[in-house]
Amino acid sequence: MYKLIKLNTALFIIFIVSACLGADHVIGHPAPLKSELLENPIKLECPVTIKEWRGNKPTQSVINDLSFLCKLSWYKFPEFIKSKGYKLNNSGKDYSASFITDSKSYRNLNDLTYRFNTRSKEVYGNTHYKSQYIFITNDYNLDIFYEVWVHELYHAMSDIYSIYDQYSGNKETIDESLAKEFSKFILQ
Ligand SMILES: [Zn+2]
Repeated sequence: MYKLIKLNTALFIIFIVSACLGADHVIGHPAPLKSELLENPIKLECPVTIKEWRGNKPTQSVINDLSFLCKLSWYKFPEFIKSKGYKLNNSGKDYSASFITDSKSYRNLNDLTYRFNTRSKEVYGNTHYKSQYIFITNDYNLDIFYEVWVHELYHAMSDIYSIYDQYSGNKETIDESLAKEFSKFILQ
């Protein structure tokens, strides 16, 4: 009996401590919280708007490069996708982008405990169909930074133009291999 009470007390203390530590931690909710949104969203020359950029600040030249690659990707997508035998069918969806630190800290790109609790792998970029968001590292000095950007743009366009639905077989695998091929095609 004593032991049981002691255990209950211990569990109660653990519960209180963890409740305090995680008191303001939101579970799930990949899309930026109100407090995380940019005051002035960054419009690009394509149908993607940057709504969150936290952890560092992009230079104007980085924004220009992201914008140019987005425009080029949109322009080249029809040609690429038709050559693969798929049809473009605009769903009218629009996508936003979040550039965040690729750490495991709360609300960062690899926070697999709270913000991205439905994902199991650490990544540099991820396109989340349900929230219509591209989540990507803010580390623009990374060699693969622009490659990841174009790769994720492919995933977004595949959803927007209903390409994903047309795949027969393992849709995820096909989308992944086409995203890789597309980023090479754009950045060649
Ligand atoms: Zn991918």
